[in-house]
Amino acid sequence: MRNGTGEILTRMRDAGPLSRAELSRQTRISSAGVTKIIAQLHSSGLVGERELQEHSVGRPPVALHLNADACGVLAIHLGAGQAQVAVFDLMLNAGPVHSASFDLSDPIDSIIDVAVTLSREVMQEAHSARLKILGVGIGVPGSVDPTKRINIHSVLAGWKNVPFAQAFEAALGLPVVIEHNATAIAMAEARYGDGREAESILHLFLGQGLGAGFAQTGPGERCSPVEIGHVAVNPGGPPCRCGGHGCLERYFSEKPLRQIVGDPGIARADLVAAAMNTNDWPTIYEYLLQTVSTTVTLLGPERVILGGDLNTAPDAFLEDFRRDLAPRVMPQQRERLKIERTSLPGAAGVSGAACVALESFFYTAGPASSLNRLYPGATA
Ligand SMILES: [Zn+2]
Repeated sequence: MRNGTGEILTRMRDAGPLSRAELSRQTRISSAGVTKIIAQLHSSGLVGERELQEHSVGRPPVALHLNADACGVLAIHLGAGQAQVAVFDLMLNAGPVHSASFDLSDPIDSIIDVAVTLSREVMQEAHSARLKILGVGIGVPGSVDPTKRINIHSVLAGWKNVPFAQAFEAALGLPVVIEHNATAIAMAEARYGDGREAESILHLFLGQGLGAGFAQTGPGERCSPVEIGHVAVNPGGPPCRCGGHGCLERYFSEKPLRQIVGDPGIARADLVAAAMNTNDWPTIYEYLLQTVSTTVTLLGPERVILGGDLNTAPDAFLEDFRRDLAPRVMPQQRERLKIERTSLPGAAGVSGAACVALESFFYTAGPASSLNRLYPGATA
């Protein structure tokens, strides 16, 4: 639940510069309440103002805007064998993305050490630039607990009940929130990408595995992981690392796609294009179509977003997918459903992690608690 400060910050993020009167109308916070909150945000340097228009009589109305670079968050993406770290401002603009490799089979403590070392380097750069870091968001390859602190299970990595938030808080001295990678990316798409035009999106992410996240904005806002890669499309088929058999991911993810293409050196970005030219394609495409159409029927997203290595699939794939998915969903869904490539620039995983941190440490309840703890006296 957002508090008054969170409501005002979120409106300024989503609707751009607004007058105090407009903020009061849109958030249903009294004008006295808006004035008080804005005064606090203004004194912290988080909000700026400029005159709206020429005004001959009385005090000119002013538009209030977020100072996007007044502070930021640290984002960490723990992917399949690689950690990526970057600092983001309040509008999800990224600084340089730094990365380091690890082996998924390494002990979890050494993987955390790799990410912590990289994070300290990035934080040092942020401190040199005098950027205040409110907190840390971490995207992990698996489901997380309701408090967003523990990675319950990563099928891809084999991790179970890893208390990532506690470990990174102890090492970095900042508050930490974690989220399932594809869910975090779906949130970023829904709040900052083209997905803002839709109320709900399903983000499909093809990489070493096949993941998905669902994000719904507006009054009933929520997000959740969608384990689309582990839907059994061929019951009794080949065993999957999740313990099941014949999962979609056994046919439609990096390793099986490489196997049917038969070219171990092919770039991941070219995998789908190459797979489309094989005899196996009609079968695995049907598996994908069947699973996505069922998911769309059950969840009812307005957008299906293609991310990861699906984002680089050829236009022919996008055209086929649009043509073939529509007849398989309900008429009312068919009319509004759009299938698009992701609009997030660059490294989507860190963008997702940053979005989660911004929600937790800024847009939900304002930055006061984080700022006061880190920089005593920073807020009114
Ligand atoms: Zn599985």
